[in-house]
Amino acid sequence: MMRVIFLGPQGAGKGTISSRVSAKLKIPHISTGDLFRDAIAAQTPLGKEAKKSIDQGKLVPDLITNALIREHVEKKRCKKGFILDGYPRNISQAKSLDSFALPTQVILLDIPEQVSIERLAGRLQCKICKRVFNINAREDDKPQVIKQRLAAYRAETEPIVDYYKKQKKLHRIDATPTVEIILKKIFRVLC
Ligand code: AMP
Repeated sequence: MMRVIFLGPQGAGKGTISSRVSAKLKIPHISTGDLFRDAIAAQTPLGKEAKKSIDQGKLVPDLITNALIREHVEKKRCKKGFILDGYPRNISQAKSLDSFALPTQVILLDIPEQVSIERLAGRLQCKICKRVFNINAREDDKPQVIKQRLAAYRAETEPIVDYYKKQKKLHRIDATPTVEIILKKIFRVLC
């Protein structure tokens, strides 16, 4: 059973790297950001609610986010495990996750804030295949929204690093080298 969480600031490569790990381990990749963007594109009630927070770089309310993740991880396809990308994002979400699916390992993709800003400033995500290209900007990659998202990371997400460190589940991985090098280090930790 592998229930792996990916943590790290925006621009650390969570999406790209966690998708590759999911493909290799053959367990589903669940990204809250992707789920919200799909819901926004489909103009569902969830999408409309999430959009209000996402456009401001703020976190979508916990009640909505926790219910969405619970619905996904309790699906049959997640019986052998899952990879979470972008969840949990605060202590309350981490505690909620512990109540319905205890994580087994947590990977922290570590990069300096300046690198994070530089990477975010020029990226574009394909709505269909979810690949991130580094040539243009995503809706919420405008400079003032980036600042807000990084502030939310520092204030709300960073405390969960300690939370998982205390549980002895945390693995800190330097996310500045190439994707292949990062993946090698992750598989050494996970396999
Ligand atoms: P991401 O693609 O992971 O950077 O997510 C994009 C946006 O979706 C974030 O800036 C938040 O507004 C929202 N979001 C994603 N994951 C969560 C979460 N776990 N809790 C609350 N909001 C989230």
